[in-house]
Amino acid sequence: MNNTGLPGKPPKNSSPSFDDIPVAERETVEAPPKPRRNLVGLIGGVGAIALAVGGFSAYQVYRSSQPPIAASPSAPASPSASPTDGRLLNHYPYEEAPQSELEPIGDDGDMKLRSSAAKAYREMVTAAAAEEVVLVPLSAFRSVAQQEDIYFGVRAERNQSLEQRAEVSAPPGHSEHHTGYAIDIGDGNTPATHLSPTFEETAAYQWLQANAARFSFELSFPKDNQQGVSYEPWHWRFVGDQQSLETFYKTGREQPAANAEQGNESRPPSPTRSASQENLQDASEAR
Ligand SMILES: [Zn+2]
Repeated sequence: MNNTGLPGKPPKNSSPSFDDIPVAERETVEAPPKPRRNLVGLIGGVGAIALAVGGFSAYQVYRSSQPPIAASPSAPASPSASPTDGRLLNHYPYEEAPQSELEPIGDDGDMKLRSSAAKAYREMVTAAAAEEVVLVPLSAFRSVAQQEDIYFGVRAERNQSLEQRAEVSAPPGHSEHHTGYAIDIGDGNTPATHLSPTFEETAAYQWLQANAARFSFELSFPKDNQQGVSYEPWHWRFVGDQQSLETFYKTGREQPAANAEQGNESRPPSPTRSASQENLQDASEAR
């Protein structure tokens, strides 16, 4: 992100801006009473300062509106601008979906997604069931507060470093589950594979790989994803409308690696794999 053109924020070492003038001096005729004969001089003085500052500010605005190359041809491009895209420990920031846009995906009403995603998910479950594949939801929408409990509570319990924790759980405010578009899916016939990389061996995963795109779901964290987070074959996100697309595909955001090479992998399991299999508590802590 280029932050050089931030309006209203002249460089620190520039001449004084309006904000640098003591408040008393910004006042005009409503200033505290002074001897009358000084008032005219005061107004004149303040007016002069205001004019000077106004002129300078206008110049600043003019300068900042010019293309950088015209303003400072030899300056490196935004040297102080951080290359950050808002990521925290590899996880992107996400806003919590408004409650009004969420709806239950099943009969118990426990797990919710945004309406568009919930509808697509239910259709997908029905289509899978027609082929005797049982998709079960393990975790859907999560609030930032819920993620906070999961992230910090479990971290303390397990004595994990921030980095260790971030490998298996997104920090609060940085989980795709906040958006109401992401869902962890399991195979109802093989609960032992829930939230485990071994989920990729199930009929449910095979079916999802072949069919999820028809329902606008995609894997968020395929093997060797560019985002650098551990492989999660169970974590799928909806990208079937404008808002979900913008949520996950903003300019400059890295995208998951192509998922075409599935099945060719022969590398040894990473340490994070066993960490994410520890127990069913991971049902609520997965990304
Ligand atoms: Zn997840």
